[in-house]
Amino acid sequence: MDAELRSRAEAAAAVARAHADEVDRDSRFPREALEAIKEQRLLALMVATEDGGEGRSYREIGEVTELLAAACGSTGMVYAMHQNQIAGLVRHADTPYFAQRRREAADKQLLIASATTEIGIGGDLRSSTCAVEADDAGHFALEKNAPVISYADDSDVIVVTARRNPDAGPADQVLVYCDRAHVQLEKTFPWNVMGFRGTCSPGYILRTENTTEAIFPEPFADMLARCMLPGAHIFWASVWLGIANEAVGKARAFVQNAARKNPGSMPPGAPRLAELQITLQTFASTVHHAAERFDRLAPSDPELDSVPFALAMNGLKVYASTTIVDIVSRAMLITGIAGYRLDTPYSLDRLLRDAFGAAIMVNNDRILGNSASLELINRRGGAW
Ligand SMILES: Cc1cc2nc3c(=O)[nH]c(=O)nc-3n(C[C@H](O)[C@H](O)[C@H](O)COP(=O)(O)OP(=O)(O)OC[C@H]3O[C@@H](n4cnc5c(N)ncnc54)[C@H](O)[C@@H]3O)c2cc1C
Repeated sequence: MDAELRSRAEAAAAVARAHADEVDRDSRFPREALEAIKEQRLLALMVATEDGGEGRSYREIGEVTELLAAACGSTGMVYAMHQNQIAGLVRHADTPYFAQRRREAADKQLLIASATTEIGIGGDLRSSTCAVEADDAGHFALEKNAPVISYADDSDVIVVTARRNPDAGPADQVLVYCDRAHVQLEKTFPWNVMGFRGTCSPGYILRTENTTEAIFPEPFADMLARCMLPGAHIFWASVWLGIANEAVGKARAFVQNAARKNPGSMPPGAPRLAELQITLQTFASTVHHAAERFDRLAPSDPELDSVPFALAMNGLKVYASTTIVDIVSRAMLITGIAGYRLDTPYSLDRLLRDAFGAAIMVNNDRILGNSASLELINRRGGAW
């Protein structure tokens, strides 16, 4: 990331940090942080320059995500989820309607939420119960019972998965771009959870009507495999890496403070810190490498449909979502009671609670089940 982008990201992260504890305590949307992110024009970084964006890479946007997440996990996660929706708009929506939506997203710094999870199908992204019901005049209606939609109330757009039509099978899905002006939300479940409390992700019945132009032209299966699944895993892993950075930073500050208090003696946590830094470095290298390699693949590259690529992206998610818990837990051993307390600058409370959300954002068991099936047909072998 260049110095100019870093300073914009740091400015937004400083605002996120100032409100992070309150956002977590009250389980409220990080509105100050999102205002700062919009002010720094960080929401549409991936949109091409000719459409009003900056044509930034996954690697660069991943690093912005890390900085935001280190300051406030919920802000980082909102940003990460939004960026993945922008990616779908940039990489898989080659129609005049969506070209206009891209320009609008950049110009107005629109915030995009997503409703994939559905009552009755759990976290299976590749299956929908609800269906698009279109008429011959090019209008459609859609109703989805979604148990979790992050920041829906504060979004400008919600993208929704649904069956292509009422006769389509559960896996014959499309993605629908739902401008909030055309959406009605009826809240069904509250959001009172352990971590990522500021993502504000209650359940809703979502109802929308619009013209069929708002349906993405490519099947959702292709968008998911080639863009939105790897993108989710790269951007989510960037959030967890940011949180890990913050936890190790607290452990380091604790050890350095102990060293200052007892000059000439090695604090007991110092060797553990040195060891933890190796894990953090491996984590960072893995996430950055995945983003850089993905950046090198065009949206139509056949490699995106390969088994080793799918295994690598599944593996990135499982690795990152378990390593974050390992890192924060080991930081706790270094900081001891100071990290366990809620009232010290070394407190790891929020970081640990956020870390535990990682494994269930698309359950790791579900992902490993998918990878197990892929291994049965994995002819190329090796690592991606
Ligand atoms: C902070 C946060 C924000 C979120 N935001 C959104 C959002 O904006 N939009 C959205 O649509 N969703 C969102 N989600 C939902 C998320 O993406 C998952 O879909 C959801 O958490 C999965 O719910 P589940 O655990 O009930 O379902 P499941 O994934 O169905 O898991 C339920 C249980 O079934 C088991 N299981 C399921 N399948 C398999 C399998 N194949 N093999 C083995 N075991 C299996 C799991 O081990 C688990 O115990 C969010 C979740 C979190 C935590």
